[in-house]
Amino acid sequence: MSAKCAMCGKQVASGLTLRKFFDFRNREEEICDECKGGVVKLVGSSANCNFCLASLLDIEKDDQICLQCKRRKALFVHHPIFIYTEKLKDFFERYKFLGDAKLARVFRDALRERFGEFDDFVVVPVPSDYNRLRQRRFSPVELLLQEAGVRYVNCLQKLNSSAKQSDKSLDERWKNDGEYAFSQDYIDDIKDKKVVIFDDVMTTGSTIDKCAQTMIGYVKEMVSISLAR
Ligand SMILES: [Zn+2]
Ligand SMILES: [Zn+2]
Repeated sequence: MSAKCAMCGKQVASGLTLRKFFDFRNREEEICDECKGGVVKLVGSSANCNFCLASLLDIEKDDQICLQCKRRKALFVHHPIFIYTEKLKDFFERYKFLGDAKLARVFRDALRERFGEFDDFVVVPVPSDYNRLRQRRFSPVELLLQEAGVRYVNCLQKLNSSAKQSDKSLDERWKNDGEYAFSQDYIDDIKDKKVVIFDDVMTTGSTIDKCAQTMIGYVKEMVSISLAR
């Protein structure tokens, strides 16, 4: 009997070499040993940044904060789940290309577990670029949340370059920082609430920061989560 790995899609000769991933019940969510080896939880220690869990360089160790977080004057704590390994890079390329819900489901339990720690927070996904959204016809970030059964408020928009040029009508209803905008239509959803911004991958943190800027002043507290860092 043969089966496919849910992460890389490779045929695995025998069901025996497929491993249940985070105790998933369905076989379609089993992943091969090679993929499993590439999915590593990011666990903080004194060697990690207090704000984003990045490994600290020696010069950063005194402050317990990485230079990127220092530069962005870390406004809030970021809670990544996995290390952004080559395997995860491959996974995201495949996932974004295929737009397959089955692929999003690979991380269902991991996301449920992490969001469970923030169950009194309003979840706000980082929005997709409109043109990319049109090409792909799905939002990779939202699909991850949907498959994990995490409810969210879609109150941010990524502006395209033409809208960036201070459109008056846009400015009235949207608080925008030039690249991302927050819709005032959703003000009741986030006002004085605790908000968690979600992105699939965090690299420098600037995307999440820009999204946060559009909501600062309204929310009571803010944190962020990414599947990988
Ligand atoms: Zn695999
Ligand atoms: Zn950091």
